[in-house]
Amino acid sequence: MSIGEFIDQLPIFDVHEHHMPATFLNRNVGLLDLLRQSYAGWTQERPYPLPSENREEDPMLTESAKSTWEEVAPYVEHSGSNHFVRNLVQGLDELYDLAGQGITEKNWQTLDAAIRERHLDSNWPHEVMRRAGVREIVTDIYAAPLLNAKRELGDHYRSVMRINGLAMAWHQDRRDHNGNGVGYFADEVGMRCGTFADFCILLERLVDTMEERNQVGLKNALAYDRDIQFDEPDEDLARRAWGNPMASAEERKAFGDFVVDRMCTLAGERDIPMQMHLGTAIIRGSHPLNVAGLIERHPKTRFLLMHLAYPWSAELLGMAFVYRNIWIDLTWSFLLSPSHFKRAFHEAIEVLPDESRMMMGGDNWHAEESFATFRTARNLIAEVLQEKIDSNYFRLEQAQGLAEKIFVTNAKSFFNVDF
Ligand SMILES: [Zn+2]
Repeated sequence: MSIGEFIDQLPIFDVHEHHMPATFLNRNVGLLDLLRQSYAGWTQERPYPLPSENREEDPMLTESAKSTWEEVAPYVEHSGSNHFVRNLVQGLDELYDLAGQGITEKNWQTLDAAIRERHLDSNWPHEVMRRAGVREIVTDIYAAPLLNAKRELGDHYRSVMRINGLAMAWHQDRRDHNGNGVGYFADEVGMRCGTFADFCILLERLVDTMEERNQVGLKNALAYDRDIQFDEPDEDLARRAWGNPMASAEERKAFGDFVVDRMCTLAGERDIPMQMHLGTAIIRGSHPLNVAGLIERHPKTRFLLMHLAYPWSAELLGMAFVYRNIWIDLTWSFLLSPSHFKRAFHEAIEVLPDESRMMMGGDNWHAEESFATFRTARNLIAEVLQEKIDSNYFRLEQAQGLAEKIFVTNAKSFFNVDF
């Protein structure tokens, strides 16, 4: 069996998606929804504001009314060379039998009708994930970070608890870029949160109730809200921000730094992993080396660092060699740029201190894009491993062993979830 054939039959433990009931299980889905509510949508509009911008609504979560070719065309005619678009179009081609034509002015209405028809069946998204070979899924439901994914999406789902809404919540009117604030978290666990001391109790309560909600990790996506230079906690400075609409920039930053540090401490004490978004986001502050201090202060916390920190993959791998509490989530890197991914993945194989460190996910909203993403990931990982075999770096059996770890066994032990 070649490495490609071996990889094609591997089951997948998918460590990162944004499958959420409102989008993933929506019965009213057409072609334009799949384009907008995917990374292809990011070619038309960046869905998170920069510090210099304001945003009313998340363009990814707004439903599209009846669509026209004029709305579909920009994706395939002006952004057709972008890999997010290529990936999704190829996936749709395979799932909806487009005979290699992609999306055209001639076929788009038929395709739109077929997508709408399929989505009337509530089992369709699960069927697509099954066809992708995915067996277990950890999702990040940022629209409702405390939702019980196993209950809402199915038995094979777990979730992570995104902490952005807490780190950005120095004042009751403050929200993270997804609209979450401290009130949501307190209400969900039945607490009142008047004082800073209450807030500190809330943080611990949230971590201690994760298991009840089938949550298997924390998620720090603050790179979309602020810089990720998380300094040593200064509790006095953080307390000064609490409840203060006039808090200074320094106090607000100290508040976020304090929350992140506290959550890392709680996670370390309970052996709960922390996923962290690195790389492109609010790009002036999202370089991976910014989190080196945080990682060094928490040697007992297991960090799952995401996206090969694109475009700073070499820096991330350097960190993963130095700090032994780092795991690597390849998610999104193969979607952003296949050629960058191949180069970085070659390096990762060579540099990482042991084979338990890598895992992967889809990072998508709809099952169609997840399907496409795993097709791409299987192909690219097989290509790199074949190159490694051809250059006598290692033998076929070693390549197969590594692939199996990346696709399924590393995530099982990392999240302590079996199937
Ligand atoms: Zn994501």
